[in-house]
Amino acid sequence: MDQAQSKPVFSLPDWRALRNDFPVLTNSQPALHYLDSAASSQKPQAVIDAISHCYSHNYGPVHRGLYALAEVASEAYEAARQTIANFVNAENTNEIVFTRSATEAINLVAHGWAGQHLKPGEDIWVSQMEHHANFLPWQRVCQTLGTRLRVIPLDEDGQLDFETAEGIFGANTGLIAITQVSNVLGTINPIEQIVRRANRQSIPVLVDAAQAVGHMAVDVQALNCDFLVASAHKMCGPGGIGFLYGKQERLAETDPLLLGGGMVDEVDIDQSSWAEIPARFEAGSPNLSGAVGFAAAINYLQDIGMGAIEQRVQQLTSLAYQTLSEIDGLALYGSPESTSHSGILSFNVDDIHPHDVAHIAAEHGVAIRAGHHCCQPLMQRLGVSSTARASFSFYNNEQDIAALAKAILDAKQILGNR
Ligand code: PLP
Repeated sequence: MDQAQSKPVFSLPDWRALRNDFPVLTNSQPALHYLDSAASSQKPQAVIDAISHCYSHNYGPVHRGLYALAEVASEAYEAARQTIANFVNAENTNEIVFTRSATEAINLVAHGWAGQHLKPGEDIWVSQMEHHANFLPWQRVCQTLGTRLRVIPLDEDGQLDFETAEGIFGANTGLIAITQVSNVLGTINPIEQIVRRANRQSIPVLVDAAQAVGHMAVDVQALNCDFLVASAHKMCGPGGIGFLYGKQERLAETDPLLLGGGMVDEVDIDQSSWAEIPARFEAGSPNLSGAVGFAAAINYLQDIGMGAIEQRVQQLTSLAYQTLSEIDGLALYGSPESTSHSGILSFNVDDIHPHDVAHIAAEHGVAIRAGHHCCQPLMQRLGVSSTARASFSFYNNEQDIAALAKAILDAKQILGNR
């Protein structure tokens, strides 16, 4: 074969060496097979070091002091915002609002935008695979505002079924709030098409990208969505920080969720005015070390390359899919064989309760999740109360998958239908 043709589009990272960047994976005795990255990812030394360096050298109050340390702190915080803006290709840095999490970001839009702009009788569309974080805030908006919560059903393969989502792109739709990647099924939704169709009717779209940003390239300008949310802790960054991306014109018409220090222009006894965007949405003392750690995580991921990360996770997931498919009595949910599938596999084995599978897996050093994964409407659709879930990151390897398979076989032997 022609040499040039066989070359990958990017040089492949040394995955074994990269695994060693994660102290918890190398320090654990006995070996840890961490297959719960969809819940929260592990942290590389670069992120731990950035946070430690911040506290050891650069820590000070953000946007609140005139001395050198406070200025350094403020600059680092704003530089982190810039890093996120570049990472998701926001047009303007001010379109990135720091929040505590994806959850808080969705609540901010529900309260501050939907609560102010939607009218009684209008429809808010979500899908049946939404995480509770992208379900409950809309349920409450509907209860208080009189809007209607509409749900895009799923077909047998766990894909969105637009055929039966009648009226979704119609005049009565006030907002579509949808996940880019399902945290249970791993389905990658056709978010570009959804936004394109919504744009034609001027329907605003919020994308829950908690399982997408940091796992694949996300470009908010190309996507042209109105809002997009994610959390740092699911993409090698620290806990307690996430972000809301909002188009400038949308943020301009959004009310703040939290009121307090740092988000005001002027406060009088009777009334007050808000600071410019994005400070308006960041009441209280900012999370400097979180922002610095978040930026370090993005730099770390970008050094590896988003294309390489996505390809690695797909390879691992497809190996895991093949391995688990060979286990008798194991039911996998969704369509993990599809190409629009990310690094998440949900399954049940025989009649064994998923918690028991997870317990036995834990005894093998395999960390998986069991439960409803904050997706009870989806569980109802699947006809189960819970599933076991293995989720993969680029730092996983073939041994992790072998250990998972062994653990499931042991669970079957101990508790399964024999
Ligand atoms: N959306 C999806 C798809 C998720 O998987 C999660 C967390 O698991 C969230 C939202 C909420 O993220 P956080 O708990 O970081 O706010």
